[in-house]
Amino acid sequence: MTKSASPIWHPFTQHAVQPDATLIARGEGAWLETADGRRIFDAISSWWVVTHGHRHPHIMQAIKDQADRLDQVIFAGFTHEPAEKLARRLVAMTPPGLEYVFFSDSGSTSVEVALKMALGFWRHRGEKRTGILALEGAYHGDTIGGMSVGERGVFNAPYDPLLFDVARLPFPSAGREEATLDALNAACGKGEVAALIVEPLILGAGGMLIYTPDVLSEMKRVCETHGALFIADEVMTGWGRTGTLFACEQAKVTPDIACYSKGLTGGSLPLAVTLCRADIFDAHYSTDRSRTFFHSSSYTANPIACAAALANLEIWEKEPVLERIAAVSRVHSAQLDRFREDRRFTNVRQIGSIAALDIASSDAGYMAAIGPRLYQGFLSRNLLIRPLGNTIYIMPPYCSDRNELSLVYEAITDVVGEIL
Ligand SMILES: *Cc1c(COP(=O)(O)O)cnc(C)c1O
Repeated sequence: MTKSASPIWHPFTQHAVQPDATLIARGEGAWLETADGRRIFDAISSWWVVTHGHRHPHIMQAIKDQADRLDQVIFAGFTHEPAEKLARRLVAMTPPGLEYVFFSDSGSTSVEVALKMALGFWRHRGEKRTGILALEGAYHGDTIGGMSVGERGVFNAPYDPLLFDVARLPFPSAGREEATLDALNAACGKGEVAALIVEPLILGAGGMLIYTPDVLSEMKRVCETHGALFIADEVMTGWGRTGTLFACEQAKVTPDIACYSKGLTGGSLPLAVTLCRADIFDAHYSTDRSRTFFHSSSYTANPIACAAALANLEIWEKEPVLERIAAVSRVHSAQLDRFREDRRFTNVRQIGSIAALDIASSDAGYMAAIGPRLYQGFLSRNLLIRPLGNTIYIMPPYCSDRNELSLVYEAITDVVGEIL
């Protein structure tokens, strides 16, 4: 393989073995289009961000309108209407009790903010709680804090010297929930835990592993009992992915701190928020300036991104988004049945708009050799599906219809048939 002429170093891409990147010129609904007119079905919502479909007219219009008024302004000491409106609406829409909104630019930064809020809270309260707990197999982003709380492995081994220690709870797989809760209880017992961070109901990049709302609410309850903060990383699960607006709703859980990003702008522009309870804000609220929450990035609460997010919220208010997700979910259920009897597959599962299944093989996990071969097989059939090793998953935009989704399911049968 010769090196590409492009100077671009792509994310999560091994340039020595992967073909050159596909050049995309347009997008509409659930479809991407190359400059020469090849149409590719975006079965993973362009890395889980596009919710209503590419270029939803209401979001595009909001971006254009905002671009005519204000592009960017420093967010310390200044504010603007899109951010003010968005923050109020987010407080109203998210689980009750989340009362303050901190803006950042990506899922990873929203997690960094959450961890810093938690540590700041305990320090300013004068309590020595610094421990962080996380689930085995978790993914919380690729910045240093995000990697620290995420699963360790091939992804972050070179950076291990930079990562801080985190205690891990076993993943609460079906029938093994007690082990998770026992571990949580034991870890909290010493009173040194600042926070537990979890991806509610489903671990995304860790392999689309699903657990029950009961465990989620139990984990919250145990944290509450011991006074540890509960951080919900809803970066992937937020904005309808699991069938409800937020995954925490299914467990009737209000996290102490919550992170939202991917679908926040409907997938149109980068933006993230970290919401928190009032007492976390209040712990930083002081005439002592050393208690300031010292965090920012240059583009914090960019007005155009906020306008796009506001338009997304309006779509949620005006359009039958949950019904669309339920329709996608029904197609998943109907289509997945045939794989349950097929011994080449295991762990057939779904939640809301997400469906996943594993290729039964001893070569499992993210580095499984079959992953890139599946990816190429799907792409040659004009489908964007990026398996996590031997785990094939579909996470389509909510506008995907029955026919489009059946293309995906037929391709899974065909591609796996060819490869195995
Ligand atoms: C994608 C993801 C992140 C990181 O978000 P980025 O926008 O890629 O930085 C964090 N947490 C979860 C659960 C995610 O799925």
